[in-house]
Amino acid sequence: SSVMASEKEAALAAAPSDSPTIFDKIINKEIPATVVYEDDKVLAFRDIAPQAPTHILIIPKKRDGLTGLSKAEERHTEILGHLLYTAKLVAKQEGLEDGFRIVINDGPQGCQSVYHIHVHLIGGRQMNWPPG
Ligand code: 5GP
Repeated sequence: SSVMASEKEAALAAAPSDSPTIFDKIINKEIPATVVYEDDKVLAFRDIAPQAPTHILIIPKKRDGLTGLSKAEERHTEILGHLLYTAKLVAKQEGLEDGFRIVINDGPQGCQSVYHIHVHLIGGRQMNWPPG
């Protein structure tokens, strides 16, 4: 679809970088987002371009060098686990009893467009395999 094409174009245009991202503005409440879960370390909010009835992004409030999963270091293991556990909590909160999908896009070939690590929680419809 044209939406998917433009997202891929956005991903390919987004050069990996350490610059602040749009997610900093969401964390700092400078731009609005529909927050569905929050604690001292993570924020979960609805994706602005949902690919399914439930499409939520889970991010660390402090990026700490974690622009993407490929930049993970040993010090990040706790926050990485916390992000995944939060995905489970939010899936339950969203009523996704029949299943869901977790996605972490990394780099241009992985179609990453925002360089602040984020877990996609996608559900509410039948998923397909392989992914696009
Ligand atoms: P990526 O392609 O990097 O894995 O995922 C980035 C996601 O962020 C995309 O699904 C995109 O729709 C979402 N996104 C980009 N800008 C915003 C925004 O300003 N607000 C929200 N809620 N989501 C955004």
